[in-house]
Amino acid sequence: MKNAKDGMNRIQTILKILLVGICLSGNEAKSQQGLKIYISADMEGVVGAVTGDQLGPEGFEYSRFRTFMTAEVNSAIKAAKNAGASEILVSDSHGNGENLLIENLPSDIQLVRSWPRPLGMMQGIDETFDAAIFIGYHSSTTNTSGVRAHSFSSANLTAVILNGIPMPEAGVNAAIAGHFGVPVVMISGDDAIVKEAQDILGALEGAIVKEAYGFHSAKTIMPEKSYQLIEEKVSAALSRLETFEPYRLKLPVTVEISFKNYMPAEILSYLDEIERVDAHTIRFIGKDLPTVSKFLQFISHYSPGISP
Ligand SMILES: [Zn+2]
Repeated sequence: MKNAKDGMNRIQTILKILLVGICLSGNEAKSQQGLKIYISADMEGVVGAVTGDQLGPEGFEYSRFRTFMTAEVNSAIKAAKNAGASEILVSDSHGNGENLLIENLPSDIQLVRSWPRPLGMMQGIDETFDAAIFIGYHSSTTNTSGVRAHSFSSANLTAVILNGIPMPEAGVNAAIAGHFGVPVVMISGDDAIVKEAQDILGALEGAIVKEAYGFHSAKTIMPEKSYQLIEEKVSAALSRLETFEPYRLKLPVTVEISFKNYMPAEILSYLDEIERVDAHTIRFIGKDLPTVSKFLQFISHYSPGISP
């Protein structure tokens, strides 16, 4: 037994030396050093999440799902660091923006919390980042499949269309990243958003952590399995970072938004910059993606009664 084990150890050591040699001699390994990675984290696409019971402070499973969401983000962080990331910014981009368990995140990253913020789910991104990653994402309000399919506000919006393309949050956020020249390289969530994102953005890596049966039902893998899968997909994405292009929309950007209700479209159309397309839909032309993002944030957060 002992001799066999010694033999195995020797083989393993030789393999390790060979691997290190290959890594050090390759250009890829060199260029990966000092990567700066942006991670935008939502919750509807977290493993096992299917209803409001997991997604907000009033839900009986919410506190446990905060730990799953945090663990998914930590899996992405771990893989990013293994790929050479030395700077990581995470944005808590679901609900109240206060979901991730800050004490469970590594001490050497930074976190964006709460709202409102001009770049929304991409706050803090700029041209110094090398790649963006989306964790826990969900399909768009215009998609007929996907768990909790919505775009920015399930209560208020029935379509968000940029340059004629119905967008999930992943599409808008990828365009914001694209404005800064940053490609989105990986997304996790259900099968519906992974497909929708790949259709719009191209062949980014996708971690499918559940299969949607409907708005409030899915067949899900188990948490530990999702952490593994996310780690694998982030590693796969960052090992071929040079194959990704930033997602850039043609400027200026035509934004069409349909509201569930009639009144927002009526009142917004008082502004000269806004055209009423139909009873529930308005059109706005944004000179660039930060302008589009601020407009989306404005319609999501403004009401005359807001305080302080
Ligand atoms: Zn969300």
